[in-house]
Amino acid sequence: MLFNNPFKKDGNWYKGAIHVHTTNSDGRLSPREAIKLYKKYGYDFMVITEHGKIFDYSSLSTPDFLLINGVEYGVGEMTNGISYHIVAIDVPADLKLKNDKSTQSVIDQIRSAGGEAIIAHPYWYGMNLIDLIRLKNYIGIEVFNWGCEGDIGGGRGLSSVHWDGVLSAGHRVFGFAVDDVHYYTYDVAGGWIMVKAPELTKEDIMEAIRKGEFYSSSGPKVLNLEVSEERIRLECDGARFINFVTIPTVGKRLDAEGNKPLTYCEVDVSKDLFFGGKPRGYIRIELENNEGKRCWLNPIFLD
Ligand SMILES: [Zn+2]
Ligand SMILES: [Zn+2]
Repeated sequence: MLFNNPFKKDGNWYKGAIHVHTTNSDGRLSPREAIKLYKKYGYDFMVITEHGKIFDYSSLSTPDFLLINGVEYGVGEMTNGISYHIVAIDVPADLKLKNDKSTQSVIDQIRSAGGEAIIAHPYWYGMNLIDLIRLKNYIGIEVFNWGCEGDIGGGRGLSSVHWDGVLSAGHRVFGFAVDDVHYYTYDVAGGWIMVKAPELTKEDIMEAIRKGEFYSSSGPKVLNLEVSEERIRLECDGARFINFVTIPTVGKRLDAEGNKPLTYCEVDVSKDLFFGGKPRGYIRIELENNEGKRCWLNPIFLD
């Protein structure tokens, strides 16, 4: 079993927006205005990811609000003829791509430069599983993109099918909820990550992200999680259902009874999730509250 449980780690929870555009590309607010707004929404850190160009925003960091450098590259071509969008986080401001035609090469260069690559909004631009499975070396995908959920032709923010597709193919990747904010109206503060880290520093936040010690949300809070080979226990602030997603044909959905939301659940891994069969692949937990807002925990990878 491979799972770094953030709820068993010392530290604090930090709320982060990791896909943000400002007036330095096609966003409507300046970096300073964007920071002010996200602070108002209770965020602790932000990765500003302009299109195609890395800006060094680290000097805007304060003790209570951290900026990590990022960028969003449009590169290569998916089977539908549209470019891949790769969000890079924690990249040096002076990173110069040598080969910017190959998607895999760009991902590899982001990694070599010390950063992490995230596959942006799979459902929104019609990415299919072939497009996704042929890539490697990325840390995760945007399981939820709030901007794409409300964008023109909307409702294309949720990419859990893509995530389960790559997980079922054996790729060990995390799920990120993001805003991809441009307008700062319908597209702000609707998708974020909660990271457990000792301190609000770039090093601590990035180490936690790399280890998967975070969860993604568009509303609900997870309060505790206990994971062993035999049992999983979860506490949250209220869910109308909790899904335990595994490889196809097994797994479990727990529904609240009547109007009383679920705040606790417990499952027996072999008996409840795998029907007595041998647990394999992965288990991930997602839940939805009464407002239709969701929360996604990172996968527990089984041997
Ligand atoms: Zn994009
Ligand atoms: Zn974007």
